[in-house]
Amino acid sequence: MIAHYGYKDGSGDFFISIDTDKCTQCSDKPCLEACPEKIIELFTDDYDDEVVGIKASERNKIKYTCLTCKSTFGAGHAACIEACLLEAIEHSW
Ligand code: SF4
Ligand code: SF4
Repeated sequence: MIAHYGYKDGSGDFFISIDTDKCTQCSDKPCLEACPEKIIELFTDDYDDEVVGIKASERNKIKYTCLTCKSTFGAGHAACIEACLLEAIEHSW
């Protein structure tokens, strides 16, 4: 399943999409440690698999929370994207 976390406003679409099927095959889940803002969390989905998502309290402000990380590493190279060897994470912006 592709889970989308984020929002849209007048300036654009700001979504982080995570292919949770890949998370079930990922034992170390390095994205959790890699995120400098610690907004990625581990949870158990409806199928009792351990997957990751963006914390509910952070979903409506990722444009701002992720700004430093994305600016530092460059578009397409944010820490979570780089850490995920299974290429399960995509950003819309
Ligand atoms: S590193 Fe990638 S595959 Fe592993 S838990 Fe994180 S998003 Fe899922
Ligand atoms: S872009 Fe950076 S701050 Fe945002 S979720 Fe990914 S690793 Fe965390």
